Amino acid sequence: MEAPINLTAVFMLCLIVLALGIFGMTMSSRIQILRRLAAEDRFEDAGERLKRLLRFGLGQKRLVDPEEFKPGLAHVLIFAAFMVLALRTITLFGMAFGGWDFHLPLLGANSATGRVYLLLKDLVVFGALIGVGYFLYLRLVVKPERMTYSGEAIFILAMIAGLMITEILFDSAHIYRFEDGQTSWYTPAGAVGLALYRALGISPETAWVVGRVAWWTHLVQVLVFLNFLPLGKHFHVITGLPNVYFQRLEPQYRPSKMDLENSETFGVQKADELTWKMALDVFSCTECGRCQTHCPTYVTGKPLAHKALNMAIKQHLLEQVDVLAKGPEHREELPDLVPTVIEPETIWACTTCGWCETACPVFIENLPRIVEMRRHQVLVQSEFPQEATRVFRGMETQGNPWGLGASSRADWAEGHDVPTVDENPEFEYLWFVGCAGAYDERQKKVSQALARVLNAAGVNYAILGKKETCTGDSARRMGNEYLFQILAQQNIETFKEYNVKKIFTQCPHCFNALKNEYPQFGGNYEVLHHTQLIETLLKDKRIQLDEAFQELVTYHDACYLGRHNQEYEAPRKALQSVPGLQLVEMGRNRRQSFCCGAGGGRMWMEETIGTRINQNRVQEAVATGAKTIAANCPFCITMLRDGLNELGVEGVEVKDVAEIVAASIKLPVVRDEPRQAAEEA
Ligand code: SF4
Ligand code: SF4
Repeated sequence: MEAPINLTAVFMLCLIVLALGIFGMTMSSRIQILRRLAAEDRFEDAGERLKRLLRFGLGQKRLVDPEEFKPGLAHVLIFAAFMVLALRTITLFGMAFGGWDFHLPLLGANSATGRVYLLLKDLVVFGALIGVGYFLYLRLVVKPERMTYSGEAIFILAMIAGLMITEILFDSAHIYRFEDGQTSWYTPAGAVGLALYRALGISPETAWVVGRVAWWTHLVQVLVFLNFLPLGKHFHVITGLPNVYFQRLEPQYRPSKMDLENSETFGVQKADELTWKMALDVFSCTECGRCQTHCPTYVTGKPLAHKALNMAIKQHLLEQVDVLAKGPEHREELPDLVPTVIEPETIWACTTCGWCETACPVFIENLPRIVEMRRHQVLVQSEFPQEATRVFRGMETQGNPWGLGASSRADWAEGHDVPTVDENPEFEYLWFVGCAGAYDERQKKVSQALARVLNAAGVNYAILGKKETCTGDSARRMGNEYLFQILAQQNIETFKEYNVKKIFTQCPHCFNALKNEYPQFGGNYEVLHHTQLIETLLKDKRIQLDEAFQELVTYHDACYLGRHNQEYEAPRKALQSVPGLQLVEMGRNRRQSFCCGAGGGRMWMEETIGTRINQNRVQEAVATGAKTIAANCPFCITMLRDGLNELGVEGVEVKDVAEIVAASIKLPVVRDEPRQAAEEA
């Protein structure tokens, strides 16, 4: 068999050294950035991380989301080709030094493993061409809104197609020239190329010239491709899998616990306060735009898109690499991220609904950096939407965002047979009513309906009454960690005093704070959302429903119950237990649910840019034909009701799940023995 002349080997070696040298220089500047940024421990539980890497990285689980099935599948086809062809690329480079029959051990056509590999290689080549064809069709013909036109993307797709075509041209020419044109079951791509050569009347010798040109083209393309990757969005080819490996292990975002006494800085002001993981995140963005499809701020025209934020931070890091490299003593040379790189409106627009994080195929985290930048703005700069001033003051002085008298916190319960912890010290559950449930006129009705359900089921519960204070959820998400920690400590002390073990709440924000964030401060409890408790009571037949609720009802998932805590079914099951009730789903439901616009402290801020988020959601709910929108969050209920009023919709009501269940309850009320005994004592 003809061996490549030495000149080929020398030339190839020079090319490889040059390409790897340039690649090394580019990569070292990227690595330099990661090394200079703030520390973050993402190294625990390597076993779980590897499992997720296999599932979401190599298995591409998130990419083939049902909503994005076809693009996901196309990506899987291209990804599989890259994985399988890595060995083939080494083989092709090896031919420059070892001759045209060079192959890696066990991968030659003379072994069973080699034949299987060769078949797989050809199949993934076909698969990649299908994937590229689909993406070109998507980008150039369909043009979905989430995919902004990108010359880089078209160039890369053309390059991938080029790699596959040159592979076929070389392989088939090799078969034509050295194997008498004998194809086998394991060379389907070779058979296609061979058929083409023969159809065009090309001789084996001429085909071999074409094949060698294809071989050179292929390998030069590989080296160019390698150097192109770190320059643009295709850097994710290198950083994507590490980013999947270093993902947050807890399903929900929990803001970091700040050491307020000993910290010298608060939140993120400049690039060097971003963590290395935040930089890895922005380097990994594929710009696919999946994070935008159900983002309430993006959809309604606010100046925040997760993808654009990634690009802005990435660009900034690359521009500041030299300053970062000079070390912390030069940090004053770094501009403030807000407002130089990111508009203040951008960080305040986010409702922290969590859609972007659950949608991202490479697990990019948006919430930590938004909250960290808010922290700096609030705790250091005192720069935040003015509406928040009143809210912070109300929480500080009266323990509720409206600043209503702390002493009237339990007034809603009068005449509703609701015991306080002093009246029923042997309670099983503490009912954490929350500020809205205690003060908001509409929510007081929900509290009273819930009391009716609990009393009917004989639940042994008690409320803190005047001793309850705000959980601090909104303060924390608005960046006021100081206020949040004061409120959390205060509640935890009270819980300790009453030996609280189990809590239920009627607000998903309180639920999330108590369940997932109070443990950071030593408060560990079994926490339920009221819809979970109601669903259990119904399942255990502790409440009987008989009054029919003959209505079409649609259910709105609250972000902090659904996406942040993966509870989608309990509220639905509770609703479906109501006789006569017909549940109809909105298009955006469960994980894809659309935020009401109130999370992340947005409840307390004016919405002056773009269209209104609550109206967008309400229109979807009304389109189902439902006469009742069921919800289970005080913020959602307020926003949805406002949306109906703003749009002038008549004949549609928003009700809490507890209200719907309470309206259907069979009397008489059954009281729980332990609670009765405690009260009598
Ligand atoms: S953040 Fe994730 S979902 Fe959004 S564009 Fe980047 S890779 Fe796609
Ligand atoms: S958390 Fe929600 S509102 Fe904020 S950027 Fe992500 S999708 Fe948009």
